[in-house]
Amino acid sequence: MEKKITPYSRVQEYPDEFEVLNGILMCKWCNKAVNYIETKTIKDHISGKKHLKLKLSENPKRQSQLSNFISSNVNQETIEDFIQMMAQNNIPYEKVDSMR
Ligand SMILES: [Zn+2]
Repeated sequence: MEKKITPYSRVQEYPDEFEVLNGILMCKWCNKAVNYIETKTIKDHISGKKHLKLKLSENPKRQSQLSNFISSNVNQETIEDFIQMMAQNNIPYEKVDSMR
């Protein structure tokens, strides 16, 4: 499976991790340029402690209401109540799902 590696192909491979800025592969979480050529560099980066910590601790752009809710209410019962409340208000479950 030969294909040309570009910053864009890396973003396609790891859409949650990187974005392309002026032709440079940037880590969304660390806000840092990453060498896109070597798969190993990419993998080392996304499994790095600093990266994982940033990824878990902050979500700059895409934190949805539901994931906010879930992260601030870790207990399962509360989540179930929330889902049930959604159901009672006739909010389709797919909608909840697409908010993730
Ligand atoms: Zn990173």
